[in-house]
Amino acid sequence: METITARECITTVDEPPPPVAVDSPRSAPTSLLVPGANSRWNDWRWQVRNRIRTYEELRRNLPAVESIPEIDQVAAKYPLAITPYYASLIRRADCSDPIYRMAVPQIQELHDPSFLHADPLEEEHDMPVPGLVHRYRDRALLIATTMCAMYCRHCTRKRVAGTKESSISICRLRQVSEYLTAHPEITDVIISGGDPLTMPTALLERVLSAVRSVPSVEIIRIGTRAPVVLPQRITDELVQMLRKYHPVWINTHFNHPAELTEESISALARLADAGIPLGNQSVLLRGINDDPRVMESLCRALVRARVRPYYLFQCDLVRGVEHFRTPLSRGIEIMEYLRGRLSGLAIPTFVVDTPHGGGKIPLLPNYILSTSPSHTVLRNFEGMLVNYPEPLTLPPERVREAAPESTGVWELASGKASVIVPQNSGRARRRKSHSGLRPVERFIPD
Ligand code: SF4
Repeated sequence: METITARECITTVDEPPPPVAVDSPRSAPTSLLVPGANSRWNDWRWQVRNRIRTYEELRRNLPAVESIPEIDQVAAKYPLAITPYYASLIRRADCSDPIYRMAVPQIQELHDPSFLHADPLEEEHDMPVPGLVHRYRDRALLIATTMCAMYCRHCTRKRVAGTKESSISICRLRQVSEYLTAHPEITDVIISGGDPLTMPTALLERVLSAVRSVPSVEIIRIGTRAPVVLPQRITDELVQMLRKYHPVWINTHFNHPAELTEESISALARLADAGIPLGNQSVLLRGINDDPRVMESLCRALVRARVRPYYLFQCDLVRGVEHFRTPLSRGIEIMEYLRGRLSGLAIPTFVVDTPHGGGKIPLLPNYILSTSPSHTVLRNFEGMLVNYPEPLTLPPERVREAAPESTGVWELASGKASVIVPQNSGRARRRKSHSGLRPVERFIPD
């Protein structure tokens, strides 16, 4: 049987193609079937205008797609959008294909266990200005747009991404600037969304300029999946604009080695050549990258493309993504596999972003087997056990000044505090109700 790549069957929404089967091994894309499509393929606006938005459009472009009429029902709740470019990476029109699985709605998105939430990280509780999340003392995250080029089925912000495609208003941007100016402790601002690179360059520049004009902001980071799903967006015009606002860092979001195509690698090179340090935040996804060898291959490919694997996120407890979730033990198993096989540069930090706004917690295999004042027993990735002798004399006590609002485990470890007590435990409530006893405080200094 003659094989045909998915890219060959991508067409414009207004020009239906002749039906073809998608049943090919991974191979280099050849020419497009659609007259005229080739000349516009590299225009990011054309890609955005011609995103697949409905089941009918999906069937028209990928006739071999399995029959799932519920797609429109799912898409009514969690929007569907796939760029022709990203659709062209699909090699099998079913969930055994990682690209398909990340892009095409599944009925499981509507089946939620009760412990899932729309906003499990409680971002909306930490918004002093709508759209600006201030959780960690020195960082803030700005949701600059709700639009993405593609709506990833595993998105952690399904509650906002694509529900209405709009970008930050001038008035809201002014409020953001005022808040940042009034909080000079914020030195690092992450511009996120949605995907900020779906904004027109002039509008994105307005956001960058407003943030950069706050004297206390040192670093601007942009979180984007454009190099993955819309590499055509990384134009010379965009890159020239970005480099005016250095230091600008970009974190992108590759999940599978098949996403590192010639086009995406070129887009990454354009960004790196503009002096933009690149990091990658993957999400651990069942059936996509929860195999240690797939993750190894992804990390190697990223480093070759000058991208530092930064985080590997445990899938959040978000409504609509339960079918992607893996046990925490799978992530730890992958980290165990990577250590010793890859250089430290290529190994991401595995983190779980905890519910109730607890923030990111790194998880590692246990490399400390035992400790005493004189020795620590460590193990390496091979299982070798090593005795690490501690210094014979203790270093002088360091000055341990806690930041005024710090109330974390570090204060316990450094002797600045003796206990941290949850405010809402039954015991704390009982104590509060006893007259004559002082209320239990969350942080009790020595
Ligand atoms: S690009 Fe990011 S924000 Fe947009 S749908 Fe994908 S994961 Fe969500």
